[in-house]
Amino acid sequence: MIAVLKRNATEAEKEKVIDAIEEKGFKAHPDTGVETTIVGVVGVAPDKKVNLKEQLMTMSCVDKVIVISDPYKLTSWNFKQDKTIIDLGDGVKVGGEELTVMAGPCSVEDEEQILETARVVKAAGAQILRGGAFKPRTSPYSFQGLGEEGLKLLAKAREETGLKVITELMDIEHKDVVCEYTDIVQIGARNMQNYALLKELGKINKPVMLKRGMAATIKEWLLAAEYVMNAGNHQVILCERGVRTFGEETRNTMDLSSIPLVQQLSHLPVIADPSHGTGRWELVVPVGRAAVAVGADGIMVEVHPNPENALSDGHQSLKPDNFRLLMDEIRAISKSLASFKAREKKIAYA
Ligand code: PEP
Ligand code: MN
Repeated sequence: MIAVLKRNATEAEKEKVIDAIEEKGFKAHPDTGVETTIVGVVGVAPDKKVNLKEQLMTMSCVDKVIVISDPYKLTSWNFKQDKTIIDLGDGVKVGGEELTVMAGPCSVEDEEQILETARVVKAAGAQILRGGAFKPRTSPYSFQGLGEEGLKLLAKAREETGLKVITELMDIEHKDVVCEYTDIVQIGARNMQNYALLKELGKINKPVMLKRGMAATIKEWLLAAEYVMNAGNHQVILCERGVRTFGEETRNTMDLSSIPLVQQLSHLPVIADPSHGTGRWELVVPVGRAAVAVGADGIMVEVHPNPENALSDGHQSLKPDNFRLLMDEIRAISKSLASFKAREKKIAYA
């Protein structure tokens, strides 16, 4: 349910609406747009909601009350009027006009590897360095990541290059240490439905990038984002990384259609990961290009100076030359897309 306030509603009147909602045991989520303020209502007490609707309608500052039957609340355009832009500082944004590029190795392996990769991706125009320190590996006998040592190396690379950092949080136990070093907390496909972890993310003051589960529907993915937002953290980025299908030739099937679909359903930014989406380095450049063409807000790409010797995912990592090529190509696509996007936005969200 949302209460749409009258255009001339004052701050004090808005607070009264919020109080009325919270008194009934619901959570109020105000959103002030250019012209209107709306207050979203979420909670689980349908009987009380009927009374609340009547009560809100009697308030003079309320223009109308709309009952929303969608399963999506905080992620949806019904609850927020402008697109979510995650501001990481120093001019780095996710969801803004400029395409965001997150690049780096699958895993942080050693100082030389991460610093060299950071320099390469920075020089090519990436804004964010990726690198796993706590790795969700299929086999317990595979390299599991350097843990805190890996986080320190990422921080060192940030210091030297000015890149922002994204790394995966696998376990609630590591929440504080990961948050100490990273700029964005990545939740991997395997943890997309770890609801205890998602609720914990609601308490942190860092953006969260939620990768799509390998067999998750769009609905499950957006509801997972609802968990984080409902727990108090609205800085959420979504990441399409392919889903498991019957095909054996690629690691996953990159679901490119999910990108514009989710953007129509939600104000959250959507990043595409063609590395995990295909599992083959020779497909990363064309599929990365395609993801930008369908309107992704950015891409996450695995880059390694020496993929043959990578400790994880070398087969899907770009060498520096191919990464530079991809950057040139997506910049060109993004430039010509800007005018199309503006036109589509008017049609889709008017
Ligand atoms: C990763 O990005 O390092 C990763 C493990 O990806 P995913 O969770 O999408 O498999
Ligand atoms: Mn990987």
